[in-house]
Amino acid sequence: MTARCASVLAALLLLPPALVATASAGTLSLDGPLIQGGLVIGTTEPGAKASLDGNPVRVDAAGAFLIGFGRDAAAQAWLRIEHADGSRTDKELKVATRTYPVQRIDGLPERQVTPPPEDMVRIKDDSVRIAEVRRLDSDRRGFASGFMWPVEGQVSGVFGSQRILNGKPRRPHNGVDVVAPKGAPVVACADGIVALVHQDMFFTGRTVLIDHGHGLISAYAHLDDIRVKPGERVAKGARIGSVGRTGRVTGPHLHWGVSLFGTHLDPALLVGPMEAQSGAERRR
Ligand SMILES: [Zn+2]
Repeated sequence: MTARCASVLAALLLLPPALVATASAGTLSLDGPLIQGGLVIGTTEPGAKASLDGNPVRVDAAGAFLIGFGRDAAAQAWLRIEHADGSRTDKELKVATRTYPVQRIDGLPERQVTPPPEDMVRIKDDSVRIAEVRRLDSDRRGFASGFMWPVEGQVSGVFGSQRILNGKPRRPHNGVDVVAPKGAPVVACADGIVALVHQDMFFTGRTVLIDHGHGLISAYAHLDDIRVKPGERVAKGARIGSVGRTGRVTGPHLHWGVSLFGTHLDPALLVGPMEAQSGAERRR
C-alpha cells in the first residue's frame, strides 16, 4: 500500500460507516417497527452475514434474520450486512424511544412480592430453566407464519410498565396481560416447537414456552391447564392450554411474553388490534 493510498483510507475510516460501504449488489429489506420493544424481520440474500452493533445475527438459508430492540434500547443501532459478493452495507437504524406507565398492583400475597428464603431455591430453578430456553438458537422459521393474539380480552397490563406491587417497586412488566375467563382457550401466537412445559413455576404458575426460531421465544403464563408436550410442533392458532390463575396473580388472565435471545419484546407490536383479528376470524 502506498503512503497516499493509506492516508486516503485513514480519511475514509473517520467517516460514518454508511459512507464507506461499498456499492452493493446484495439486497436488504426490513419489516417491522424500529421502536423500543419492536421486532424486525430482515431479508437479505442467502449466504450474507449480518450483525447488529457488532453482535452476529443468524441469517438462514432463505436470507431471513431477526433483530429486536429491548425496553430501554438505545435510540441508534448499526446493522451491518456482509454480502455474499464481498460488498458491505452499513445501515443506521433510528430506534424510537417510548415512555412507560407506572402500574400499581395491590392485594398480592406478600410472599409472592417479597419471597422468603425458602422460596428462593425454587425461583432460581425456574429462572434457570426459562433462561436456558431463551438462549435456544434454532434455525426454525416459525416466525414466518406471522403472529396473532393467543387469547382475546381486556388488556390489563402493557409491556414495559414500571411495577409497584403491594407498594414496592419491582421489575418492569415484560409482556402483555389479557384478562379472560378461566378456561378460555389459549393458542400459539405463531408456528413453533414447544420448548418448555412447567406445571408450577413460582411466579408464572403453569407455563408454556414456544420456540419460533432464531432465538425468538413466546411465553404463556398462569395457565389453568396445558394441552401440549415438550417437543411438540404447534401451528399458529393451535390450542396449547386454557386461561387460569396459577402463580402470582390477582385473577384469571394470560401473561403473554415474547423474547429474542432473552431480550423482552413487546408482544402487542407483533399483532394488530384485537378487534381486527376477531373480525378476520368471523369472516373466515
Ligand atoms: Zn403479566
